[in-house]
Amino acid sequence: MRDELLKNPVFAMAANQFDQVADFLALDDELRERCKWPKRLITVAIPVRHDDGNTKVYFGHRVQHHLTRGPVKGGLRYSPDVDLGEVAALAMWMNWKCALLDLPYGGGKGGINCDPRTLSMGELERITRRFTMEMIPFIGQDIDVMAPDMGTNEQTMSWIVDTYSTHAGRLVPGIVTGKPLCLQGSAGRTRATGHGVAFLASRALNKLGIDVGSATAIVQGFGNVGLHTALTLASYGVKVKGVSDISGAVWNEAGLDLNKLADHVAATKGVVGFAHGDAVDPAEMLCRECDILAPAAAGMVITAANAGQLRCKVLAEGANGPTTPEADAILAARGDIFVLPDILCNAGGVTVSYFEWVQNLQRYSWSEREVLTKLETKLEAAFARTLAFASQHGIGHRHAAQALAIKTVAEVKAQRGMFP
Ligand code: NAD
Repeated sequence: MRDELLKNPVFAMAANQFDQVADFLALDDELRERCKWPKRLITVAIPVRHDDGNTKVYFGHRVQHHLTRGPVKGGLRYSPDVDLGEVAALAMWMNWKCALLDLPYGGGKGGINCDPRTLSMGELERITRRFTMEMIPFIGQDIDVMAPDMGTNEQTMSWIVDTYSTHAGRLVPGIVTGKPLCLQGSAGRTRATGHGVAFLASRALNKLGIDVGSATAIVQGFGNVGLHTALTLASYGVKVKGVSDISGAVWNEAGLDLNKLADHVAATKGVVGFAHGDAVDPAEMLCRECDILAPAAAGMVITAANAGQLRCKVLAEGANGPTTPEADAILAARGDIFVLPDILCNAGGVTVSYFEWVQNLQRYSWSEREVLTKLETKLEAAFARTLAFASQHGIGHRHAAQALAIKTVAEVKAQRGMFP
């Protein structure tokens, strides 16, 4: 199994990161093995009748990295590229994120190798319900709690709740998070990740002695994370001068009108053609001068090619894996950019997912203000722990965040003994 997983380049990268941190922590061989490899890799066949009457078998994967600190938590993605090794890597990273934020979860991830853009709602519903049925022996609100990811959404989560609850004979909203409000979703979940990115970016500016109210920002991506990062930054008085998405990039030296931009994107599906800004080259925009650069779209966009040219003070990683290891080394050598690593910076989403689960278990709901205040408390604590550990050991923030997370898991495994 080890060799099979390591054949996947994404898993190999995650395993390599783990090995480096394990060396730094001087983990003994036994703990290293127990922390590194996933506890359960589950693959199920999902036969589904298509609208044209033909039946096709899809494959669904779920990786539960470990259950040592509680149920596993992580998204379920629908994509033709889903691969067990990649799912295992994403589960490992979720594991670290949950540990860093001190959420009582292990990491999980799942995926089905289907292309949601080519499937009807009926086909998607049948795939989701059949996958849920196949997964029933392995999931539960105390075992594995899924959430939306690429290609899945509130509707997907609602079908999982319905299928699981019908089987259980009672409503079990805590089986997933990312549900709509009418099905006991949480207030604040939609904006949580972007709110967290903006909150932590403002805390980084505080540390650098830069006035947040007169700061400037550039945001890559204007989907869920990018939009809410930009809106929250603007609510602090930050001037968001540039925004890009898959269609292009727009710039306004005086600050973009984000509500007008959101309306434009809702109407045209992209930022390109926005009347109240100038079209600029999206790659060049990333290297313009600003206080906060927030890559909140895709992975591997800060590379060896542009890391040396960045002119931001804070790099707030809203996306997962936006910075390549080569770029990271360049940023470390420069030493003039405050990096907020992804497992910390975008952890607002999983933190409010955790709050959603807690509210479901309590059969109680909190106001958006309550949710966001609790979110900021959690993020602030993880931010402070990361900065203190980095300065204590003279290491970068990314390395510190990963080391704190792996140390947390290793301590619990050692404390519990051999079984976990
Ligand atoms: P989304 O699908 O809502 O939006 C993605 C945005 O990125 C769109 O505006 C799209 O046009 C843009 N985009 C895609 N490729 C691009 C490219 N090459 N250059 C510029 N823009 C590009 O997705 P999202 O939920 O906002 O997620 C964005 C990132 O944040 C992903 O890496 C995701 O894994 C990560 N993330 C999301 C959450 C969450 O709660 N949604 C939580 C943690 C991490």
